[in-house]
This record gives sequence, C-alpha cells and structure tokens, in this order.
Amino acid sequence: MSGGGKTAQCSGCGLTAPGGAAGCEAIFHEMVARDFSDALRFRVHRMMVDTYSLQHPDRYCASARSFAAHLTGLCAILESGASRAVGDELLRRWLDGNVRLQRPVTPRFRGELTIAHVREALEPTPTPPPWSSGRSRHGRLTPPSNRWLGSGFRKRSQGGGCPGCVGAVESRP
Ligand SMILES: [Zn+2]
Repeated sequence: MSGGGKTAQCSGCGLTAPGGAAGCEAIFHEMVARDFSDALRFRVHRMMVDTYSLQHPDRYCASARSFAAHLTGLCAILESGASRAVGDELLRRWLDGNVRLQRPVTPRFRGELTIAHVREALEPTPTPPPWSSGRSRHGRLTPPSNRWLGSGFRKRSQGGGCPGCVGAVESRP
C-alpha cells in the first residue's frame, strides 16, 4: 500500500496522496513488485517504468542519458512496436555507446493519468463492467476492427525507429 503521512501533491506527476511524492513512489514500487510476481502484468513493465520515470524526471531522468533512455524507450514502444515488457535492445546499446546528449527542458505538464490510475485499473472488479456485457451488440463491428488492427500491426512491423525523439535529445558534436 502507499506510504502514510500528510496528504500532499507529488511534485512529479501532481498526484495527491498520503505522503505526497513519497506516497506516489510507494505506489510505483508496489506496481513494480506486482510486475515481478505476475508474468501477465510484466508484459507492460518497461512501458510503466518509462512513463513513471518521465513523469518524475527529478528522480529518474536527472542525466541526459537517463532522460534519453526513458524517452526513446517509451517512444519505441508506442511508435515502433518495441516490447512493452523489456523495451528495445538497440536503444540500450546506443545509449551504452559513446553518445553525447544534451538534456532538454522537461515539460511542466506530464499528463493527467498517474500511477494511482494504474493501481486502480489493476484492482479486481467485483462484477464485470456494464459495457463488457454488450459485446454481442457490437458484433457487426468485429470484422472492421480486426482489419484495422491487422493494418496497424502491419504498419508497425514496417516502421523503423523514431528519429523524432532521438533527435530531440542528441546534441551536435
Ligand atoms: Zn508522482
């Protein structure tokens, strides 16, 4: 469970939680522990870690290299189909090499969703949500949705890296 203490706002993501930033980080550690105890939840481990790190750059993206690792890692997952569980090995090798980076200024707004939303989504629901029972009513939509998914996966498999975010943090020699 999250850390105790006075309710305060996390300086990273803006979550209001007992203990503020410490409480937010406690939830994050709770989610990481769940990832390592359940193979199904580990499927999105790297995506969650990169997202949380980018929302808390003072702690997890202090250097240009760590910032680039999380930014390009998340970008590769979202835009190039890299593994949500472990990320992209090529990016790790790129960052392990002799690469010169300049850390960009971090944005002030870091999204509306926080790690508390992740925890909330993982809590078992006592009954299926009402919308889930209506699947048969949407049966006519299944063929197009499958075609669209197929198109999306084909496009992803043809894509390369994401020079946009890499270029944003790479400095010129
Ligand atoms: Zn936070």
